Amino acid sequence: MQQKLLWELQRVDQSLEKITREIKQKELVMLLKEKQNKIKELEAIIEKEEKERADLENKSRAYEDELANLETKKQAQKEKLYNGSTNSPKELESMKVKLDEIKERISQLEDQALANMDILEDKVQLLNRHTSLLNELKKEYIKNVKLYQKNKTELNEKMTFEEKRRAELVSMLSDNLLSLYQRAQEKFKNRGIARAEKGLCSGCRVEIPIMHLQNIKLGNNIYTCEQCGRILIWDEPETGC
Ligand SMILES: [Zn+2]
Repeated sequence: MQQKLLWELQRVDQSLEKITREIKQKELVMLLKEKQNKIKELEAIIEKEEKERADLENKSRAYEDELANLETKKQAQKEKLYNGSTNSPKELESMKVKLDEIKERISQLEDQALANMDILEDKVQLLNRHTSLLNELKKEYIKNVKLYQKNKTELNEKMTFEEKRRAELVSMLSDNLLSLYQRAQEKFKNRGIARAEKGLCSGCRVEIPIMHLQNIKLGNNIYTCEQCGRILIWDEPETGC
């Protein structure tokens, strides 16, 4: 009975040790940090690209305004040229030269506006790609945060359950046995209860004297291994830890 309690208590303590380790969720926390960094990086890139897009849009509007302005000037110049206000060949020639200059300037500006439009389109596409990537990353991040919280809740429940069981087991053990148990577990890090397997201590594989073996089997008393100091119990089936 006492042996079974000790074995069960060790199982609970090992389980609590495992839960304490698992509840930190180191790998998931690392993944979350990684995702957070990626999100921050991408947000900075997008911010920069949005500024660049705004600049290109402003430039595009400036070209349009200037072209509209030149178009008005062109029309005015044409009218001046063809309305018959002068017959002087010299004046007419100078007006024509001016009109050609305006046309040339319009042509140059149209080329520049088109080139600017191409750059703007590329920028918008890149921005769209980055924005959808950012949304993906954020979704994954939220999914993993939820997973973290779910795991934590489950492990906390498991811990509460095991702690309750531990308190029950401790209340069933004598003070002497409990302090013997605690000493062994401090020394062997929750592996202080060994089984007598085929006459050997399962902790250190040293043979147990036949007299002790009989008593361990009968459960008369608590024996510790003379070699390693672990508390010995009769060979129990594994309880899943
Ligand atoms: Zn031993």
